[in-house]
Amino acid sequence: MEKPSTLSVMTAYLGAPRISFDAVKEQVSLREIIDYLQLARKGRSFRCPNNRAHKHGDRNRSAYIAESWDSWRCYGCQAFGSVIDVYRYVYDVSKEEARDALAEYAGLAPVYGAVTKPAPPKPPEESPRAPLGPEAPLPAAAPAVHAFLQRTQENLLTSRHAIAYLEGRGIPLSVARAAGLGYAPRGLWLHARGASQPRIIAPLTTPDGTLINLYGRSTVQCEKRLRHDFLPGPKGIFHARSLAEEGVIVVEGIFDAVSCLAGRRPSAAIMGLSIRDGWWLEMKARLILLAPDADEAGQRRREDLQRIGAQAGKTVFTLRPDCLAGIKDLNEFWVKHQRLPNAIDKFFHVYLPREISKLDAARTAGIPTRTAISTATSAAAPQAA
Ligand SMILES: [Zn+2]
Repeated sequence: MEKPSTLSVMTAYLGAPRISFDAVKEQVSLREIIDYLQLARKGRSFRCPNNRAHKHGDRNRSAYIAESWDSWRCYGCQAFGSVIDVYRYVYDVSKEEARDALAEYAGLAPVYGAVTKPAPPKPPEESPRAPLGPEAPLPAAAPAVHAFLQRTQENLLTSRHAIAYLEGRGIPLSVARAAGLGYAPRGLWLHARGASQPRIIAPLTTPDGTLINLYGRSTVQCEKRLRHDFLPGPKGIFHARSLAEEGVIVVEGIFDAVSCLAGRRPSAAIMGLSIRDGWWLEMKARLILLAPDADEAGQRRREDLQRIGAQAGKTVFTLRPDCLAGIKDLNEFWVKHQRLPNAIDKFFHVYLPREISKLDAARTAGIPTRTAISTATSAAAPQAA
């Protein structure tokens, strides 16, 4: 888990109602924050947060958590206290500032009060998957879902926790904002099962941009099954407007997509490894760069997607897993290298212009575009080198 930056902690407090110290201690466990701040906990011992006393940091894990798990003491410097003290030592802030920062972390002080939960939208009838036929239209999200999204988009701009989380994933707030991301403090998320975690919220739409679902990514450590959460119903696509741009990078997750956007490349996330087949027909882009995660599931699915895309008349390039140089996905690559893989630049500078002129030449010559494209995707499927 990423540390909130000092900068975000120092930001002026935003005028949310005061929360008591006890309320914060009840809601945020000492153990969670020690782990969140990466204090190298092992059982009940951890690195002392009092850096003033330990000149080069406490390498010996001199601090111990009490058996009750709600207080701690350092046997090196005698510092002690609660979860609030851990935070104030790490960031060298007052007790009040630490309380406020943790209150926000816990979702106790949302910039907006909690909304009453509307009934989740009814899942639509399962429509049969007729390959590459037009898909039955999906119902648009309820007005309450639109209103919730807007509220979380406003929250994002002022939440120190959310901004620090984005920072940890290398995403500037301006990019997150332009992509429509939001932030729901703990307790606010519309889907009860995942409401105990604060979440980054992403709008999911059909290819034409109709909002049909929301995705919530937990920003704190939690059980794996709760990390990613959706409202009931079909998932939809994140940042579908990029699908109108030639060379759009189609990825699995929202942070891969916003990494590409931060790198000034068009990108959409299909939220896992499948989308409705018919949606390929609705993408305006003729040339697509598929960049699934460099894991087994991603690679297995890559060929299927490439084939379905070709059936829809698309030229589908794929990013080979070795282009990520041992890293699992584009967001991790972005965080580590502060840039996108070279293969992506090469795709945009070399392959994409070449393929676009091929398609345009075919069109001028009156050859049905579809034929030209299926040739380009035959046998050896093109890959960005
Ligand atoms: Zn100490």
